[in-house]
Amino acid sequence: MDLIQQLINTKYLKDPNIIKAFQTIKRKDFILDENEEVAECNAPLAIGFGQTISQPLTVAFMMELLDLKPGQKVLDIGFGSGWASAILAEIVGKTGKVFSIERIPELAEFGISNIRKYGFIKSDRITVKVGDGSKGMPEQAPFDRIHVGAAAFKIPNNLLEQLAIGGKLVIPEGQDTQDIVLVERISKDEYSKKRFPGFSFVPLIEENKSLS
Ligand code: SAM
Repeated sequence: MDLIQQLINTKYLKDPNIIKAFQTIKRKDFILDENEEVAECNAPLAIGFGQTISQPLTVAFMMELLDLKPGQKVLDIGFGSGWASAILAEIVGKTGKVFSIERIPELAEFGISNIRKYGFIKSDRITVKVGDGSKGMPEQAPFDRIHVGAAAFKIPNNLLEQLAIGGKLVIPEGQDTQDIVLVERISKDEYSKKRFPGFSFVPLIEENKSLS
């Protein structure tokens, strides 16, 4: 059975728009050539520089939690291979916009070359910046949705502040294993949080902060 059908059967993929995006944006276009034969496997794969393209099950779970709508403005932190950004761009459609941040310049280049295959750079639907995503992208805030693909020790305040009222953020939080946390901004000063334990991500490296 193919990977997408497997994710549908196990109820990780539910929303027809997300299913369509997973079908359109092929994971094989976002991995290293040497992994081509395992592109459809439900596991993270190395993309170089000690980083990975995330496990499909986890990406599906986070996309479903985000409850994305066409036309939304999304911030994607930990651009990596560009796969998650491309799925986000596909879901929010031609009237939406994705701003992505990656801290490793070579990976940003790798991801950009991957998303070019889908015309997302030319059409300006995804904008990629190299830098520390824990600071967010204040010049483009507020965001309707924020997706973080690396684990924060603690949810950065910058990201909470850059979320639009009514907006949603999904972020892995914790040190050894992580909870995926769904945060919703209810008003200027109120946020709700829901936690989903048992995930494992590479760390979100924050400038001027040690991991221990
Ligand atoms: N979403 C990516 C994809 O679809 O391929 C995979 C994410 S990978 C698990 C995590 C990425 O976050 C890595 O590329 C890593 O370099 C990046 N990263 C870690 N800390 C970061 C930070 N502070 N700002 C931006 N990117 C960061």
